[in-house]
Amino acid sequence: MSSKRFLRPPGARPEREFLARCLQCGQCAQVCPFYCIYMHTGFNPFISGTPQIDPRKAPCHLCMHCSEICPSNALENVPKEKVRMGRAELDRTKCHTWQGFIICRSCFERCPLKGRAIVLEKGIYPAITEKCAGCGVCEHVCPKKAIVTIPTRFVT
Ligand code: SF4
Ligand code: SF4
Ligand code: SF4
Repeated sequence: MSSKRFLRPPGARPEREFLARCLQCGQCAQVCPFYCIYMHTGFNPFISGTPQIDPRKAPCHLCMHCSEICPSNALENVPKEKVRMGRAELDRTKCHTWQGFIICRSCFERCPLKGRAIVLEKGIYPAITEKCAGCGVCEHVCPKKAIVTIPTRFVT
């Protein structure tokens, strides 16, 4: 059996608890103004119909509307600074700025936790910190695909 990694929406409880609580109602996806939540499909009845996010298609912007509306509290209504959906990893060998081609600040400028989750070393070079929420915005906007968001959970 293979394990699949994916991001859950922000505030998602630990996976077992999340699955026990999630009603598969889709309200989180309906309320998301950025259309980034889609419902898992497939034959596993415990996972099919639960929400997930693929940052390459559409990242989360940490507006927190989904966790506010979740009727079962499978998504906890936590402050965005406490969200840990995953962690962005930046490959310096692919980054325009680290390679000295151009000064690109796309990931830094668009990060919802700008200056906290991404900082600029020496005022120029982007670096991810431990405050990263894993929202995937930086991965989505990077023109070099230099960033990958690693989810905090594995789902079988
Ligand atoms: S926090 Fe906002 S942008 Fe992110 S998944 Fe929830 S509703 Fe969508
Ligand atoms: S560093 Fe990237 S993944 Fe982390 S919070 Fe900022 S935009 Fe989101
Ligand atoms: S968006 Fe990509 S290329 Fe631009 S600074 Fe960030 S990691 Fe580098």
